[in-house]
Amino acid sequence: MDLKSGITAEELFESGRGITYDDIILLPGYISFALTDVTLDTRLTRDIQLKRPIVSSPMDTVTESDMAIHMALLGGIGFIHYNNTIEEQVDHVRKAKRFENGFIADPVVLSPEHKISDIDKIKEKYGFSGVPITENGRMGGKLLGIVTRTDIDFETDRSQLVSEVMSTNLVTASEGITLEEGNEILKESKKGKLPVVDDNGCLVSLMSRTDLRKNQDFPFASKDPSKQLMVGATVGTRTYDRERLEALVDAGVDAVIFDSAQGFSTFQSEMIKWAKGKFPELQIIGGNVVTRQQCKGLIEAGADGLRVGMGSGSICITQETVAVGRSQGSAVYECAGTAKQHGVPVIADGGIRSIGHIARALSIGASCVMMGSMLAGTDESPGNYFFEGGVRLKRYRGMASREAMAVGGDKRYMNEEESLKVDQGVSGAVVDKGSIIDYVPYLLQGVKHSMQDMGCCSITELHQKLYDGSLRFELRSPSAQIEGGVHSLHSFSEPHRIQTSK
Ligand code: GDP
Ligand code: GDP
Ligand code: 5GP
Repeated sequence: MDLKSGITAEELFESGRGITYDDIILLPGYISFALTDVTLDTRLTRDIQLKRPIVSSPMDTVTESDMAIHMALLGGIGFIHYNNTIEEQVDHVRKAKRFENGFIADPVVLSPEHKISDIDKIKEKYGFSGVPITENGRMGGKLLGIVTRTDIDFETDRSQLVSEVMSTNLVTASEGITLEEGNEILKESKKGKLPVVDDNGCLVSLMSRTDLRKNQDFPFASKDPSKQLMVGATVGTRTYDRERLEALVDAGVDAVIFDSAQGFSTFQSEMIKWAKGKFPELQIIGGNVVTRQQCKGLIEAGADGLRVGMGSGSICITQETVAVGRSQGSAVYECAGTAKQHGVPVIADGGIRSIGHIARALSIGASCVMMGSMLAGTDESPGNYFFEGGVRLKRYRGMASREAMAVGGDKRYMNEEESLKVDQGVSGAVVDKGSIIDYVPYLLQGVKHSMQDMGCCSITELHQKLYDGSLRFELRSPSAQIEGGVHSLHSFSEPHRIQTSK
């Protein structure tokens, strides 16, 4: 007797009807492993691996440096929006790249003639106050001393020269040591900073004890080979956006998204080809796409990853306004299948509003999910909290909302040269969710439960079972969807921190 229940993903999506996350349910698999055995390692692009399949959306109410830093610490990645000047966007990227380091190759350095007040300015601008002092005040100069917080915190005269307060009895390391050796010296010396010098005593780089703690506190952090956090950024697809891209690459960006609501265009194909020619190492994510043909076009142009979704976002009115788009389930399944044939992973972008949606997106082929509304309203998202009717909220708005377009959001929707702009998004507010440091691990723990119930202990296994037909689905009828929600109660309290309505 055939014991298979349900249908395969191929059968689920073959009808041609628009299917989305809420329409589908996964049938249980066999559990032969503990929850702690479930891993969430995945790929963002051809060459970027992440330990967690989560990405924050490049929106001006979601991702600036604070969000990008914390997404990377938690194992995902954030993409800085571009509703700002090139300088502002680059500054966000630099902040994220400077947050954690192995060897700090370009530490901020002063000369003995600088004053304590100059250190105060550095503290205000960059957040740290451990500054090596070299003879000429530059990297590569002869190291004379170091000023750290403890040298200056009780000094009342901030006009004193740093030469009067700096520590000169230094523990240093010699050029050529490994990161492991440097870390050992830092631990043993009980110092906060370790300057690395060459044979002539000239400063080559700096190491910070804080980075050891950060590495210990955030073991899944997404880092580049020099142990700096990975950060993404977004640019448009016009010729003038090339200058922005060059500045971002110069600042060390790890991946860029070329941002168009409908990415299958000459603009985007040309931009990808140009960028791949100029920066062959840079990981490029094209999009947005929802059909096989769009995927193929952008992959042939050179995309290393794809962003999938058109009209499914919580703040989005594209499908209403222009009648073009696609149900997110169908879009993710088809695009992921097509991109897989070329070794390219896809990000399911938009419409994620619960743990179950993250799990469904992964189970139909996505390698990562991109979230806007789920991450807006957190301590790390831009903007201030405010109260409305006694509820603590933060603003969240579509990039094609009237408000966001007024400050540059129209670029994505090919609206920027038009005097009469058509809205494709709304502005609103979302409730305070606290810090993503607590919230994201909660979401991911939920995803692990989901994968355990499916009988899959990794995303690779999940995708294997998706494509070999052993992952089984059912299409939920409207009444099945009602049955799957809370029902028959007079009242109940909302589950912890989960948004339940679009
Ligand atoms: P990781 O510890 O998971 O990052 O594993 P790796 O094998 O990449 O780490 C290699 C060495 O670098 C180990 O000794 C780590 O403790 C150290 N390390 C990792 N991240 C950092 C960091 O951000 N700063 C410093 N100073 N050391 C690091
Ligand atoms: P400090 O004691 O005030 O210098 O600050 P911490 O040691 O607590 O933090 C310094 C953090 O900033 C570490 O994570 C460094 O990797 C990072 N950082 C990035 N660039 C620099 C730099 O140029 N100088 C210093 N001191 N730290 C830097
Ligand atoms: P959410 O996670 O809130 O459901 O959706 C976020 C996604 O919606 C973004 O990553 C982006 O793809 C899309 N988006 C952002 N702003 C707008 C907008 O104004 N209109 C439309 N159509 N989509 C938007």
